[in-house]
Amino acid sequence: LPRVVIIGAGIVGANLADELVSRGWNGITVVEQGPLSMPGGSTSHAPGLVFQTNSSKTMSDFARYTVSKLLSLEEDGQSCFNQVGGLEVATTPARLEELKRKRGWASSWKIETRLLTTNECLELYPLLDRDSVLGGLHIPSDGLALAARAVQLLIARTTKAGVRYLDLTPVTGVERSGGRVTGVTTPKGTIAADIVISCAGFWGVEIGAMVGLPVPLLPLAHQYAKTGSLQVLSAANKPANGANLPILRHQDQDLYYREHGDRYGIGYYGHRPMPVVAASLGSTPEHVDEKNMPSRLDFTAEDFEPAWKASKKLLPVLREAEIAEGFNGIFSFTPDGGPIVGQHPTLDGFYVAEAVWVTHSAGVAKAVAELLTTGRSEVDLSDCDLARFEEVQLAPAYVSETSQQNFVEVYDILHPMQPKESPRNLRVSPFHARQKELGAVFLESRAWERPQWLEANADLLPDLPAQWQPVDRDVWSARFHSPIVAAEAWKTRTAVAMYDMTPLKRLEVVGPGAADLLQRLTTSDVLTNPDQATYTLMLDNAGGIRSDVIVARLEARSFHLGVFSPVALDYISREAREQSRQPSKRWVQTQDVTGGTCSIGLWGPRAVEVMNAVNALDVAQLPHHGFRKTFIAGIPVMAIRLSHVGEPGWEIYTSAEFGSRLWDVLWSAGGVHGVVAAGRAALNALRMENGYRDWGSDMTTEHDPYEVGLGHLIDAAKEGFVGQMALRGRSEKDVSRRLRTLTIDDGRSVVLGKEPVFLDGRAVGYVTSAAFAYTIRKPIAYAYLPGNVLNGAFVEIEYFGRRIWATVTEDPLTSVAARRERP
Ligand code: FAD
Repeated sequence: LPRVVIIGAGIVGANLADELVSRGWNGITVVEQGPLSMPGGSTSHAPGLVFQTNSSKTMSDFARYTVSKLLSLEEDGQSCFNQVGGLEVATTPARLEELKRKRGWASSWKIETRLLTTNECLELYPLLDRDSVLGGLHIPSDGLALAARAVQLLIARTTKAGVRYLDLTPVTGVERSGGRVTGVTTPKGTIAADIVISCAGFWGVEIGAMVGLPVPLLPLAHQYAKTGSLQVLSAANKPANGANLPILRHQDQDLYYREHGDRYGIGYYGHRPMPVVAASLGSTPEHVDEKNMPSRLDFTAEDFEPAWKASKKLLPVLREAEIAEGFNGIFSFTPDGGPIVGQHPTLDGFYVAEAVWVTHSAGVAKAVAELLTTGRSEVDLSDCDLARFEEVQLAPAYVSETSQQNFVEVYDILHPMQPKESPRNLRVSPFHARQKELGAVFLESRAWERPQWLEANADLLPDLPAQWQPVDRDVWSARFHSPIVAAEAWKTRTAVAMYDMTPLKRLEVVGPGAADLLQRLTTSDVLTNPDQATYTLMLDNAGGIRSDVIVARLEARSFHLGVFSPVALDYISREAREQSRQPSKRWVQTQDVTGGTCSIGLWGPRAVEVMNAVNALDVAQLPHHGFRKTFIAGIPVMAIRLSHVGEPGWEIYTSAEFGSRLWDVLWSAGGVHGVVAAGRAALNALRMENGYRDWGSDMTTEHDPYEVGLGHLIDAAKEGFVGQMALRGRSEKDVSRRLRTLTIDDGRSVVLGKEPVFLDGRAVGYVTSAAFAYTIRKPIAYAYLPGNVLNGAFVEIEYFGRRIWATVTEDPLTSVAARRERP
């Protein structure tokens, strides 16, 4: 068993030690700079509210696990979780709608909730102001984590199991040799280790710097205040820090509340962001107490004034009270609000588990323990993976701006398609100038600017045939959407369109061991058809889908790969390094070529005419998945005959300096064939009509290829690929759940994703992707449903509290295929 060092004895570090011990590991040392009895990090003052529901399945799974673990962690008959329930109130009509959406997520992730009227809110929480509250969401299983106590119990339990705790011991460096960690240095000496996990909370940046790892988190101060004693609370007879009332959220004013015995605790996110540099806080003193700890800054009363005013309105009893004490407590924010979990990209054995709320702490610790002991986490980690950030997103200025934005928006109502305001234009493809001329409306993803649709195509709307007319959307799904998308879909299906595919990740895998590596990592034989690219899967060792991937063998030792996320690239690179290190195996290298290259998807029934017009006959004649390095109008390109929209055509790659010329050549040749530039919104609708799955939403490591409907990508004759053993005995026939296509019966209700799906009144699954299918003029959705649900079954999707009937349909939509045949 490896020797493990965990840096930090907060709620994450202590839980991780416990999760590892419970999996049979020993040889674990937890190194903590503060005193163990109260280390002085964020956990030491966390009020511990646990609201489990949010839009991420992963985060909600983590929260549910944290609740169940803290409930089971007992001493003297008292657990570490006070399950008083949670109440989120709405004081605006928009929030009331938002609570319905949140209830939908809760049903999707199997958390029981109840929407309450004003009266019901008052019954549950009599101290609320009746005139302010329009309604609420009650989550009976939410409550208060006794985080500091949990840490002490976990320390006691794991110490008994052999974990060594060193307190008052700052880690000052990380030792390494041959690309692996070998230990940590402290003023008391070096501690040898094969695995080091930094659970240093908001000190993560400083620990990262010891190993050259930019950790994208920003420590920010957040205000928390306590009132003086309140008669109405003391009457309830509870322990000093106890609570009976549900924890309360007033998100319209960026506020939350809990009881501390006879006093109220009030947390506030509405103030200006107050960034902190952890290194500037100095070293943790030997004596730490409630009032004196590095994570606690002085209260800035003026910032709290609006909070106090709003609190007195929502909770009139506070009008008789005063603020007795307060502080500005520090914890981590990140560019996208997710935690940061995973392994250093190049230093093996060094992991981080940071920017984790108490709410998710035990869940994250379990996932990391699973990663370490079995190589995979049961819960999909793509939302939290350190590798999800691209290099440009690790720049301190980017991290600072986006994390502060995240703080500002933490309780806001956010639309899933809402564009980021800033920073923008960090990464643009060589086609950007042309797209701007065409009025592209850009969304940002992984710092890339990607057209959603192009306003120039509004000119097509008057000609749009009746059967392609989009339906009127409800106000929510109409936001950040345009009817122009219908015109782009129409042109793609009936003429030809150019899609900018540059932001998808491209890499080269080269070396004498390249073929071995790719044969081992993918489910298909990528060698037998040398002239054809292969669309295949990469699995984890339990058969979960790590990524889909397109592989083209350019030369004997050189492959081009297209993947859909940086997480996949990180995996392939890590495996390549590991293989190259083994003396018995041949070396292989990977290189991310995304930024130096670009790609156009030229798709549609008339794409071939465009290719003929530029005299690229060799490209025009490529068979399905055939590829070729050649020239188009003198521009060196690589073209693969493949399409994401179900129409004939190619992905054409060239290096960045030729990009704008390639665009112009295709654009002018396509003019007479009706070429348009089209955006992501059309692409998403068309790919769904054709049954194509997106990694990250429709499939993750939580799903095997049979559940996703991609069993045909498993080569039955192939031996020895990652995940093969796990798939033995499984088949498409006997899966317990399956990704299905639903068509929405009323023909007009467009949902957006993550909504729960009900069968016979019971929540059985959730929507992974959704779109309006222009080709059949109906909204569609993908959803995981029980494996035995038949085609033609009726289900209901809950959308803002409204149930919408949908029909389970054959996949891909045969009606689309049929209609595509028309002239
Ligand atoms: P910490 O508890 O900070 O632990 C990290 C540990 O690492 C520290 O003890 C530190 O001393 C140690 N360390 C750092 N550097 C070194 C080093 N070089 N060597 C050795 N040791 C080191 N979350 C919720 O879920 N619900 C809430 O209601 C809630 N309310 C909050 C209210 C406030 C005012 C604040 C500030 C935070 C709140 N949070 C809440 C967030 C939550 O407190 C934190 O996200 C969580 O406690 C982080 O736990 P951790 O174990 O990662 O970090």
